[in-house]
Amino acid sequence: MQDKLSLMIPGPTPVPETVLRALGRHPIGHRSGEFQSVVKRTTEQLKWLHQTTNDVLTITGSGTAAMEAGIINTLSRGDKILCGTNGKFGERWVKVANAYGLDVQIVNAEWGQPLNPEDFKEILEADENKEIKATIVTHSETSTGVINDLKAISQHVQKHGESIIIADCVTSLGACNVPMDEWGIDVIASGSQKGYMMPPGLSFVAMSERAWAAQKQSNLPKFYLDLNQYRNAGTKNSNPFTPAVNLYFALEASLDIMQTEGLKTIFERHNRHKTAAQEGMKAIGLPLFSAKGYGSPAITAVAPEHIDAEVLRKEVKQRFDILLAGGQDHLKGKVFRIGHLGFVNDRDVLTAIAAIESTLSSLGLLNGKIGEGLKAASAALK
Ligand SMILES: *Cc1c(COP(=O)(O)O)cnc(C)c1O
Repeated sequence: MQDKLSLMIPGPTPVPETVLRALGRHPIGHRSGEFQSVVKRTTEQLKWLHQTTNDVLTITGSGTAAMEAGIINTLSRGDKILCGTNGKFGERWVKVANAYGLDVQIVNAEWGQPLNPEDFKEILEADENKEIKATIVTHSETSTGVINDLKAISQHVQKHGESIIIADCVTSLGACNVPMDEWGIDVIASGSQKGYMMPPGLSFVAMSERAWAAQKQSNLPKFYLDLNQYRNAGTKNSNPFTPAVNLYFALEASLDIMQTEGLKTIFERHNRHKTAAQEGMKAIGLPLFSAKGYGSPAITAVAPEHIDAEVLRKEVKQRFDILLAGGQDHLKGKVFRIGHLGFVNDRDVLTAIAAIESTLSSLGLLNGKIGEGLKAASAALK
């Protein structure tokens, strides 16, 4: 049905009408005083979201631009880094690092399992010559629906003393607690089409003082993503290049909505939706893909046995106009993912679960009685 699509994927996520309307304004000059006040305001709001007094810079680009900026601004040719991989996005960091000729040591976990903080501890402690310059962790691994223990890994990095910690918080920021200053994270990358309740197009890089110190030494090539330019322009509430002016309007509107709801309430909402999705799926005999206790607050990955996840996904889309995410790479057909990130309420989650149940029932693939998933999910939402 036209205009009825419900996005239950981990980005792009649904956008509130107030934010859409803000986007529809006529653009204004990006060097105007009016735009400078938008930059000033959104910068303050972004610091609130990151729970930091550090700089948070806005780049026109997708989340990967923020990831790349994090690497090329803090590291130099041949630098040794540690990179956690337990899914597609962890692997993307390795690809970016390799593209710049960094010496990458991978800390791996199986897809569906969390990274083990002890693995990082061991390697960092053994590095007596302090050769490791950065440790990179994907907080919420969107491809597998796993949340990694960023806080614990960060503590091991702090003890090392030399390495900075770069975190991909693209699907954790605005979904669960990411206190940048308290946890001592040096670089945080995020993107607008995830927890921000916005369309794609803006990405964000938060940089600690240690990260800026590393920036001064860094010799990797950079121009558009040279964060020094963004920092300097930022002191005048401006941008080095023409930013996506209308997305800034949307950013101000969405962060307004988030500030009204409050961080604590936002995190609780995501946590409830995670639990509801998990309980709903388990009740209809669909196993979760993520290890127990490590489900992401943004996305629930489900690994149905004896059912082609792509068939289920297509039917749910066809019949209910609900878009679920599929499995990536080797998980295609084996896993589907329910996004519950950003502008999502109880109705959205209950409807998605009911749609999955109804679809399985009509395909003759539902184990047990229809309604068990909904029952378990609504109990979790009480
Ligand atoms: C979406 C996402 C990104 C960024 O992807 P883009 O398509 O470049 O916006 C990075 N990391 C994670 C974990 C993500 O979910």
